[in-house]
Amino acid sequence: MSVLPAAGVSFDIEVPVAIVGAGAAGMTAALAARDAGAEPLMLERDAVAQGSTALSSGLIPAAGTKIQHAKGIADSPDLFAADIQHKARNEADKQLVTLLARESGPTIDWLAEKHGVPFTLVEGFLYPGHSVLRMHGTPRRTGAELMAFLSEAATRAGAELVTQAHVDALYADATGRVAGLRIRRPDATIESIGCGALVLACSGFGGNPDLVQRYIPEMADALFFGHTGNKGDAVNWGTALGAAVRDMGAYQGHGSVATPHNILITWALMMEGGIQVNAEGKRFSNEHQGYSEQSVAVLAQPGRVAFNIYDHRRHELAMQFEDYRNAVAAGAVKTAVTPAQLAAMLGLPADALTATLEDAHAFATGEAEDRFGRDFTGSAPLGAPYFGVKVTGALFHTQGGLVVDAQARVCRPDGTPLPNLFAAGGAAAGVSGPAVWGYLSGNGLLSAVTLGRLAGTHAARLSRRGTAIAASN
Ligand SMILES: Cc1cc2nc3c(=O)[nH]c(=O)nc-3n(C[C@H](O)[C@H](O)[C@H](O)COP(=O)(O)OP(=O)(O)OC[C@H]3O[C@@H](n4cnc5c(N)ncnc54)[C@H](O)[C@@H]3O)c2cc1C
Repeated sequence: MSVLPAAGVSFDIEVPVAIVGAGAAGMTAALAARDAGAEPLMLERDAVAQGSTALSSGLIPAAGTKIQHAKGIADSPDLFAADIQHKARNEADKQLVTLLARESGPTIDWLAEKHGVPFTLVEGFLYPGHSVLRMHGTPRRTGAELMAFLSEAATRAGAELVTQAHVDALYADATGRVAGLRIRRPDATIESIGCGALVLACSGFGGNPDLVQRYIPEMADALFFGHTGNKGDAVNWGTALGAAVRDMGAYQGHGSVATPHNILITWALMMEGGIQVNAEGKRFSNEHQGYSEQSVAVLAQPGRVAFNIYDHRRHELAMQFEDYRNAVAAGAVKTAVTPAQLAAMLGLPADALTATLEDAHAFATGEAEDRFGRDFTGSAPLGAPYFGVKVTGALFHTQGGLVVDAQARVCRPDGTPLPNLFAAGGAAAGVSGPAVWGYLSGNGLLSAVTLGRLAGTHAARLSRRGTAIAASN
C-alpha cells in the first residue's frame, strides 16, 4: 500500500469524490456526497460490498432521534457523550465525542427519512454503559440487512459502486494533496482514477496480523471475527501523507462467540441476569462491565473458553436476534432442567455449577453480595429450565486510526487538515479511549455513519469548490 508521486500521472477517469471501501462508512459517505450534489465513486475490493458491517449486528446508538421521541425516551447528545466518556474513563477525544454524540441523532433521522432505512429502537434491555434505550437497528437486527438497505439507498441515489476494485496505491503531491488512486482488478489489470477529494472508508487493521501484533498484542492469537480484507490501508496511507494516528491499542473485543460454531451470542443474556462461568464452573468477572473487555477475561480462562449460563426467560429475549436463532439451529445452545444436567451437557463439574447458580440466586434476591461487584438485583433470579453455550473471546474490529476534525478531514499531528483527505468508520480514530475497556456498545457503527455523513458532505463541498476554481482559471 503505497503513496506514489502524482506528477506526470494521467488518469483513466476523473471523479469529484472517490471513496475507498463500501461498508457502512463508505455507503453513508456516498449518500451524503450525492445529497450535497456530487457524483461519488465507491471502490470496493470484494465482489460484493459487505465489510465488517455485514458481519455486525447492525445496531447504531444515537441520541435524540425521532424514533426515540416517539417512544417517549428522554435522551440528549450530552447524556450520550457522558456515557461514551464514562466507558472510556474520560480518555476519549473530547471534541470527537461531542461531535459524534451531536451528529448521531440527525444522522439516523436522515438515513431513515431521506434514504428509507427502516430503523426501530432495540427494546427490552440496555446495553452495558448506555443510560437509556438508544440502539437503532433494522428489523432483523443484522448488519447484513443494514448493508442491504444502505446498498439499495445508494443505488437509488445514483451513487456509483465498483466492486473487485482493490485500491493499492494513492497518488499525491508534496503538500499531501491526493490527486487520485490506483486500482488492481482480479485479473491483475491496473486502472487509475483521479479525484477532487478522497474519503478513506476502508476500515481498520483487524485483518492485518502484523499490525495487530504490533498494536494489540493481547489479541494476536485470538479469533478475528471481523472482515479479513481490512488490512490497515487507511492508516498506512494516512501516515505516509503525514497524518496523525490515535488510540492504536483500542478495539472492540467480544467475550461471547459460540465455539466451535463461531456465532455471536448476544450480550443481552448477561445484561438481563445470565452469568459466565469457566471450565471449573466458577464465575470469574463482573459480566456487566462490558462485552469488549470480557474478550480478554474469557481468553484468560482455562482452555480460553467460558460458558454463558441463563434460563428460558432470557433465551426468549435472545430469540429476537437472528445470530442467536442461528446458534440455536446449529446446536450451540444446550438446555436442561437442572444445573447438574446442564453441567453434564457442557462438560462442567456439576457441584461447582450448582453452587455458582445458588450464589447467583442469593445475589439476585439481595441475600448476598457479588465479590466482583455486579448488581444482580435488577433482574429476576435464574430458574429452570437452564440454558448454556460454550463461548470464546474474539477481536471484532480496531478502534485506533487517523485523527479527523469536525469535517472528518484527516489531520496532521499539529492539527492542520490534509488538503483533500477524509476518513470515517474504522479508518478514523474512534471514541473508545486507548484500550479494549473503552469500547461502548455501538461505537463502531456510530463512527461509521456519523463520520461517513460528514466526510461525504464536506468532500462533496470541497470538490465543488475545486471545480469552481478550476473553471474560473
Ligand atoms: C461480529 C461483529 C459485530 C459487530 N456489531 C456491531 C454493532 O452491533 N454495532 C456497532 O456499532 N458496531 C458493531 N461492530 C463493529 C462494526 O461492524 C464496525 O465498526 C463497522 O462495520 C465499520 O464500518 P466501516 O464501513 O468502517 O468498515 P467495513 O464495514 O469493514 O467496510 C470497509 C470496506 O473497505 C473495503 N476495503 C478495505 N481495504 C480496501 C482497499 N484497499 N480497496 C478497496 N476496498 C477496501 C473492505 O473490503 C470493506 O468492504 C461489529 C463488528 C463485528 C465483527
